[in-house]
Amino acid sequence: MTSYIFPPAPQAAVPVRGSPQQYAVSRIFCVGRNYAAHAREMGFDPDREPPFYFNKTPIDLVPSGATVPYPLGSQNYHYEMELVIALGQPAFRVAPEQAQACVWGYACGLDMTRRDLQIKSREMGRPWDFGKDFEQSAVISELVPASAIGHPTRGAIQLSVNGQLRQNADLKDLIWSVPEIVANLSHYYHLQPGDLIYTGTPEGVGAVQPGDHITGRIDGVGEIALTIGQPE
Ligand code: MN
Repeated sequence: MTSYIFPPAPQAAVPVRGSPQQYAVSRIFCVGRNYAAHAREMGFDPDREPPFYFNKTPIDLVPSGATVPYPLGSQNYHYEMELVIALGQPAFRVAPEQAQACVWGYACGLDMTRRDLQIKSREMGRPWDFGKDFEQSAVISELVPASAIGHPTRGAIQLSVNGQLRQNADLKDLIWSVPEIVANLSHYYHLQPGDLIYTGTPEGVGAVQPGDHITGRIDGVGEIALTIGQPE
């Protein structure tokens, strides 16, 4: 048996609705600017340029319903409501027509963002990691298997802060669809079961403060909630 210098970190995992089994996570990919109106609000012209990605670390995962402290080093902390894909089959150089069969299920996700740090690095041509890949930045609901809900291609995706609707869009407005994203990524990675993909947020992103309560929902997928606590 392998002996370690210090105990390994616990396996990152996501609960599955109606099941005692959890989904073990190995990687988290995130799509940038995948709704036209959000691309415009961030100061870009939406187009059909190939999608681009950034990553979060699995230890960033936090379950729906949690309270997270206002993050370190930021004064502009934003929510981004997103559909999350969970892979269930390896995908390597697949076509969009084959990609859907590799998807195990879906969840609601919040791509929490230190917007000030993201924009500063973007302007300096530096990586986005400080703005995107930080502790408790990947909020996720229970996963639901595609065998139960199918593969959602339309339906409302919404987010409210303290009961006030802030994001209200439709999954049909994704620039790159679920099968297209999986197919595209599969030309750059050997995608595996355990890989999550946050598919991008619609328009209406904005800042939250300590004490705020976020709720989100996606038709046919589920609901998600997060409370913002005081900074540590
Ligand atoms: Mn995002």
